Amino acid sequence: MEHNKRILSGMRSTNPKLHIGNYEGALRNWVDLQEQGYEMYCMIADWHALTTMFEDSSVIGRNCLEVAKDYVSAGIDPGKSAVFVQSNVKEHAELHLLFSMTTPLGWLERVPTYKEKQADIGGTEREPYGLLGYPVLQTADILLYRPYGVPVGRDQAPHLEIGNDIGTRFNRLFSTDLFQPYKYMIPEDENRAKVPGLDMRKMSKSYDNCIYLSDSADETAAKVKSAFTTPTKIKLSDPGIPEGCAVCQYLKLYSPNWESQWQEDRDGVRGCMQNKRELIEILNEYLRPIREKRASISDDDIRDILHHGAERARVVASATMEKVRSAMGLLP
Ligand code: AMP
Repeated sequence: MEHNKRILSGMRSTNPKLHIGNYEGALRNWVDLQEQGYEMYCMIADWHALTTMFEDSSVIGRNCLEVAKDYVSAGIDPGKSAVFVQSNVKEHAELHLLFSMTTPLGWLERVPTYKEKQADIGGTEREPYGLLGYPVLQTADILLYRPYGVPVGRDQAPHLEIGNDIGTRFNRLFSTDLFQPYKYMIPEDENRAKVPGLDMRKMSKSYDNCIYLSDSADETAAKVKSAFTTPTKIKLSDPGIPEGCAVCQYLKLYSPNWESQWQEDRDGVRGCMQNKRELIEILNEYLRPIREKRASISDDDIRDILHHGAERARVVASATMEKVRSAMGLLP
């Protein structure tokens, strides 16, 4: 059977800037899929941002505009792909509510990222109900579009699995085949599926170890200069361990000569300063077109893009909701 060509993906608007981990792990794949002719729905998940930012919600709207600018700067073409904000398509809330009635609590309590986040928050008196329901809302986001695939970084794999389980359970409960399993599209290149941060932990806003797409060339250079390298490599002639060095990891991602650079680093014939200088040049050249495009996009342009994107998303989302209500026997 010929599959549909819809793809859903999204990022939370917890931060106004996307980092190169978001780009390599997800956004770059979206652009490739768009160019291959897939029908892309690129969401900005503002409700999801609330699960951890409910006390600081005033910045979430502004963040949405900035994240949308990053999408478009990185190559998402609003003429081809729908760029929209989750809360502008209310069907996401309706499907979330219906799935929250059909999803067993035990499934949600077992999600590994829930346990981690729960520990961070410290106590059920502070823990919002929405944190446990996060994968249910994410499933609603996805299944509303009944997509062929969902392109994400490695860290999202457990959420995607539970989403297919929720869809399959819905089909069984209401004797329908509405929700077909979607594919997880994780970059095959492991370096891109999980990009390390400047300190070699996972690149993440919460660790303050990111290079952002919208950083200036000077900011990028300063960050690379401070990045973690082999601690025992003090002099140029000391042997490096490229596997544990953030600068070498980025060379592997971005430099066509990374293999010889790694070998020289290991052999003690190349120093960290040279690695950093070369990386700064390559990385700034790589990010230059994204930065230039970003500078040309106004807030009004982005508001317009989001308005039209939500209209397009609503067409698919409302058609799915009609089928969902009908399968469940709810009045139209
Ligand atoms: P989030 O910031 O959790 O909304 O993530 C948005 C997207 O970026 C998801 O598809 C993540 O899997 C991906 N992502 C986030 N951090 C990284 C990273 N360090 N390496 C690769 N992909 C990432």
